[in-house]
Amino acid sequence: MKRYSAFAIAREAARFHSGWERAWRSPEPKKKYKAIVIGAGGHGLATAYYLGKNHGIKDVAVIEKGWLGGGNTGRNTTIIRSNYLQDPSAAIYEKSRSLYETMSQDLNYNVMFSPRGVLMLAQTHHEVRGYQRTAHANALQGVKTEFIGPQRVKEICPIMNIEGPRYPVLGGLFQARGGTARHDAVAWGYARACSDMGMDIIQQCEVTAIKREGGEVKGISTTKGEIACDKLCIVVAGNSGHLADLAGFRLPLESVALQALVSEPIKPCMDIVVMANTVHGYMSQSDKGEMVIGGGTDGYNNYTQRGSFQHIEETVRALIETFPMLSRLKMLRQWGGIVDVTGDRSPILSKTPLGNCFINCGWGTGGFKAIPGSGWAMAELVAKGHSPLTAEFGLDRFKEGRFIDESVAAGVAH
Ligand SMILES: Cc1cc2nc3c(=O)[nH]c(=O)nc-3n(C[C@H](O)[C@H](O)[C@H](O)COP(=O)(O)OP(=O)(O)OC[C@H]3O[C@@H](n4cnc5c(N)ncnc54)[C@H](O)[C@@H]3O)c2cc1C
Repeated sequence: MKRYSAFAIAREAARFHSGWERAWRSPEPKKKYKAIVIGAGGHGLATAYYLGKNHGIKDVAVIEKGWLGGGNTGRNTTIIRSNYLQDPSAAIYEKSRSLYETMSQDLNYNVMFSPRGVLMLAQTHHEVRGYQRTAHANALQGVKTEFIGPQRVKEICPIMNIEGPRYPVLGGLFQARGGTARHDAVAWGYARACSDMGMDIIQQCEVTAIKREGGEVKGISTTKGEIACDKLCIVVAGNSGHLADLAGFRLPLESVALQALVSEPIKPCMDIVVMANTVHGYMSQSDKGEMVIGGGTDGYNNYTQRGSFQHIEETVRALIETFPMLSRLKMLRQWGGIVDVTGDRSPILSKTPLGNCFINCGWGTGGFKAIPGSGWAMAELVAKGHSPLTAEFGLDRFKEGRFIDESVAAGVAH
């Protein structure tokens, strides 16, 4: 595949852009692959990419029922940070954040990583204590983050009202190298690199059954026929419970809708990401000028990939206290995705009761930031049978009560 470069742009401009290649091939499935990944979201594609890049396993198919990146990967608010409380979380999220720093160069695809800083507001004394504790834990883990006071918050984000009537801003946990990236580009960049390695990305192909024999996985049935494999990796976010059912085991998670909205575009007014977990809303400004706003999850399970109307009102109302300028803005679009949430708000990267079948799920409301780290770790687990980064995230932790509790630490697990 030809490399993207400034020279390529100039060359194509001179010949009316007639020479660009397709970014990835769309082949028919083969009869058998060494490894199959179900789900062409960021995590599935990253797993395939690192299987090839780090472990030389390139006889891989990524099977997607819709279009690649059309799940949560293309629906999220793109917040990237790594200042989680627990050691196993900090390790995998920091690995991920560091991979984002060089992802564009690594994939030869501009993923628009923007380390503009992520600020999590402390608006109660409980949050102040919680974030100070996280800052201390991060210092021990080698994750760069700091607890800052209200005046510094105001300096970093002048449009904020820090003296709100209900929840004045008492400080914040600030990660200067956190930020955002372009979500579709992350999926597209990995897809292009996988295709370039000879892997098959098969879209519009739903997995309808998982074939088993003697306690081992043998292949899958799909809407494009049967495909055999030596190893299978299920990476389907909100559909994980359903796929686990097809593979003959149950997962301790729930699927719920999470939604987001954007305002009309305005001039640049905020150059960081702000999360207000007490009132439950978070916001950044896109390159186009829209204010990108995320809220909380619905209080009931569903698979509809739609938002519910009352959330828009609740989220905007919550944010207006802290950002009064929002009250003058029109909201343009709203959408939802189905996220897979575990009891301890930490992911599952694990072997399963079915031999040679692996699962990567449970990233809930906060897995975009984890895509490269999760793909790196999952590929190691699939290729070698163990990975230091996944060791604590196995399914057995729910049986043994070894929870990695991030829900208390984060308030909201973004
Ligand atoms: C509104 C919203 C805001 C969010 N904000 C953030 C944020 O700011 N920061 C952050 O870090 N995270 C955020 N997240 C979470 C993040 O988007 C997800 O954790 C992450 O994208 C999950 O990626 P994935 O690859 O596991 O899943 P997905 O991208 O959902 O990919 C799974 C794929 O599996 C496919 N699939 C399902 N069933 C089958 C089948 N039977 N056969 C074949 N294919 C199948 C689906 O079609 C889908 O494409 C947000 C999520 C939402 C919905």
